[in-house]
Amino acid sequence: MKKVIVTGGSGFIGSNLVNFLIEKKFYVINLDKLTYSSNTYKNKLRNKKNYKLIKIDIINKKKITKIITKYKPDVIFNLAAETHVDRSIDGPRNFIQTNIVGTFSLLEALRQLQKRKINPKLIHVSTDEVYGDIKKNYRSLENDRYEPSSPYSASKASADHLVKSYIRTYKLKAVISNCCNNYGPYQFPEKLIPKMISNIFENKELPIYAKGKNSREWIHVEDHCSALFQLYLRGKNGESYNVGSGINLSNINLVKKLLKICNIMNIKIGKKTKIKYVKDRPGHDFRYALNSNKILKKLNWKPKIKFEKGLKQTI
Ligand code: NAD
Repeated sequence: MKKVIVTGGSGFIGSNLVNFLIEKKFYVINLDKLTYSSNTYKNKLRNKKNYKLIKIDIINKKKITKIITKYKPDVIFNLAAETHVDRSIDGPRNFIQTNIVGTFSLLEALRQLQKRKINPKLIHVSTDEVYGDIKKNYRSLENDRYEPSSPYSASKASADHLVKSYIRTYKLKAVISNCCNNYGPYQFPEKLIPKMISNIFENKELPIYAKGKNSREWIHVEDHCSALFQLYLRGKNGESYNVGSGINLSNINLVKKLLKICNIMNIKIGKKTKIKYVKDRPGHDFRYALNSNKILKKLNWKPKIKFEKGLKQTI
């Protein structure tokens, strides 16, 4: 059984990735600090023979080195991160610690282990937010300039630069993915889609920033997982790959779509469940949009889950 390490494997994308890898018959070691955003859902797929959870902060280079030495994984997927933009605005410190210093610790562990011929491939999971605000009619390419706007996206951009420098300087085997907004099961309900769904269920208002015109590209988390798996199998070391669906939607249209699907599903929409425009987030990027032709053409990957169907499943 091939071994795989997933950092942040208790988070939203990590949980889905762990399940995906177990179904592919890998032994998965999940390294997670178990912060507020990690989930504790019961999971039938996981047992002693295919899964181990180790509670750890990825900043702890010594422990990380020991674990990699012990398990000698074929690949490490790095997803451990602080991920909520609003929290990064309220207090950036944890974002700098986990997203930058944490990635640095992992890179240092890998640099030192190279000398002992322990050389797993690193799939470093990043975001479309590193490219900053994207003009109408344009979609970001992998070699576009990074122009992060929030402490969150700046911390992700910094981590990507560190990974790139280790690839170039130390010939580290690594690939970076820049993915758009994910949706699907197991997401902490502070993020837009699960928050709106929970508020609908709880007969609460639906708060939307500014006029709701900000546009995001959405991909189902299982499609992101299949892309990450392709990057492990066939992604070229040293390269970055955008991972998107090509489906952009304004926040207001997304919320209207959720309400419509809830109606079709006969979910009761209470009297208090109304869209409420709230003061905009400081520095709020208006639009993110990826050009994902590289992964589509070079790795022959494509997203499979239709947006409406995925939203219905998420609800
Ligand atoms: P999440 O917040 O749901 O999960 C993050 C996980 O990391 C949690 O389980 C948490 O306990 C763990 N963690 C936090 N700090 C840690 C530390 N110091 N050491 C070890 N574990 C730690 O996040 P997510 O949405 O699953 O995102 C995963 C990765 O994907 C992140 O790197 C994020 O930047 C990236 N990403 C997310 C999206 C999205 O839409 N959610 C889109 C593109 C990229």
